[in-house]
Amino acid sequence: MADFDGLSTALSERKKNHLYRQRRVLQSAQGAEVVVDGKPYINFCSNDYLGLANHPDVIAAFQQAANDFGVGSGASHLVCGHSSLHHQLELELAEFLGRDRVLLFSTGYMANLGVVNALLGKNDYVFEDKLNHASLLDAGLLSGARFQRFLHNDIGSLESRLAKAGEGKKLILVDSVFSMDGDFAPLTELAALAKKYNAWLMADDAHGVGVLGEHGAGCVEHFNLDQQQLPIVMGTMSKGFGGFGAFVAGSEALIETLIQFARSYIYTTALPPAVAAAALASLKIIRTDTERRQHLHDLIAHFKQGAKRHGLALMPSDTAIQPLMVGASDKALRISQALADLGFLVSAIRPPTVPANSARLRITLSASQTVPQVDALLEALNTVVTL
Ligand code: PMP
Repeated sequence: MADFDGLSTALSERKKNHLYRQRRVLQSAQGAEVVVDGKPYINFCSNDYLGLANHPDVIAAFQQAANDFGVGSGASHLVCGHSSLHHQLELELAEFLGRDRVLLFSTGYMANLGVVNALLGKNDYVFEDKLNHASLLDAGLLSGARFQRFLHNDIGSLESRLAKAGEGKKLILVDSVFSMDGDFAPLTELAALAKKYNAWLMADDAHGVGVLGEHGAGCVEHFNLDQQQLPIVMGTMSKGFGGFGAFVAGSEALIETLIQFARSYIYTTALPPAVAAAALASLKIIRTDTERRQHLHDLIAHFKQGAKRHGLALMPSDTAIQPLMVGASDKALRISQALADLGFLVSAIRPPTVPANSARLRITLSASQTVPQVDALLEALNTVVTL
């Protein structure tokens, strides 16, 4: 029988470099206050930006749909797993984003793999920002297309690569809000460049949808980009929506292509219908409860001002992702642990999730938090940041 002894070297190497990952076991629902190992913490590391993961309307919609539709979806969308709840969610999301159509995927990771692999083959080109999410990078690599990475948010670096590309389809891929940095991609400039070089532009709006724009429609609303300018949008229901799953929005031709050719759509079981029902309830809150979004944006501004007062050098970001650069992985771990000792959950993000020597504390704000909780975090950061 094959043994796994050979794996221990890689594991100890990872430990030695302070890169070992461990899971926390939560004993409570998501929210500003969570319980881990019987101890209460104030949570500053979740992507539940609007505090909808444990919202009573979302829970009620989920429960009702479980009563009506059961739990499992039973099959893939193309067999018999596509319920009227999935269908309604696709229609409402398309209208919300101002796109022809939307297609649900089981996760954002799978949506990214599905789109890129349905659109590109080995004679094509994919252009990716250096700081793109792992799922976009994996999608590009798996497609076998000629893979080009450009410097972060550097239009010149992208243009020089586009100019050199030969025949073949071209796809530019970016996070609209970079997941570990919190800054925006320059989508307006990218759209102009895509047009100039006859390339498709795709934005991964995992951290934008629900949160950005006056009505929460994400990067399309924040940057005011129509389907011509930004033809492919991927959004998740696991962050701002507080649920699970993902979608791709775009033209009729794009969505039909995905239904026919996106393998991570075709060969997997559809989301449980109750998850779609929960997303419909979240969407309703996102569209109508503008105060919730405003509270999040007020907290972001409050946190940034407070950090400035305390002399904490935050990375440049106007979003709910407010990282504090540390550099060394062991130091980031030490600070994260010291914050935990003071009752705050903040994760230390280390390579390979981020480039070498750029470990950081990824602080995330959420509408579920209060101003006093944010002030308490600022005080705590102030005492531990020099550890
Ligand atoms: N894209 C980005 C930018 C993300 O941050 C994430 C989630 N961390 C994903 C895609 C993947 O989404 P999901 O968790 O639904 O697979």
